[in-house]
Amino acid sequence: MRNELSLEDLMAGRSAAPVGGNRAASIGDDRPGRIFACVGDLTEFEGDAIVNAANSGLLGGGGVDGAIHRAAGPSLLAECRRIRETVLPDGLPAGKAIVTAGGKLKALHVVHTVGPVWHGGKSGEEETLASCYTESLRAAAALGIESIAFPAISTGVYGFPKSLAAPIAYGAVRAFLETSRIPRKVVFAFHDRGDLEIFLDSLDIISEKR
Ligand code: ADP
Repeated sequence: MRNELSLEDLMAGRSAAPVGGNRAASIGDDRPGRIFACVGDLTEFEGDAIVNAANSGLLGGGGVDGAIHRAAGPSLLAECRRIRETVLPDGLPAGKAIVTAGGKLKALHVVHTVGPVWHGGKSGEEETLASCYTESLRAAAALGIESIAFPAISTGVYGFPKSLAAPIAYGAVRAFLETSRIPRKVVFAFHDRGDLEIFLDSLDIISEKR
């Protein structure tokens, strides 16, 4: 992933369209230079940690989870098995996070978190999704992790609507960074351009509401 751009630059690139006020500045003023976004394969992130949208069993799965396990190699699965046999016999609850080593990944660590399955939005899905981001950042900060990349948690097989997930993800990250000097860099990595655009659209809406 070498196409990471700060949100300030991404939003500035879009503000060629006529809008009232300077949207790039109103977003960027929150946490200048610490939040980035890109289109790419999360497993190629060259930084301290990537976040896995895992399932509570922690033993691998489809989507980004499968891609991370394939890229990390068998040591990741072995460490996840040890975690299940020791500290988490019942698995990792939704909204929580736990850190392992990154195996053969370029990232040194994997922060595993379990997103909510979308059941229509009345089962606490929004709070659980926000908790995934907050708890992942808390776990990362506790280890001194300086740079971390997130996938769009729950927006694949778990069915969370992307346009609803985006402002929750951004809001949780922004709120955490207001309370902590680390991580210094947080990247939202999207699988395709359309998903990045949905994310940026939701930031437009947030900034227009201010
Ligand atoms: P969940 O079960 O939490 O919904 P998924 O892995 O099914 O998790 O999907 C989460 C998001 O990750 C989806 O938006 C999907 O497009 C994206 N995704 C899948 N593989 C990758 C990858 N290699 N890099 C970045 N994002 C990915």
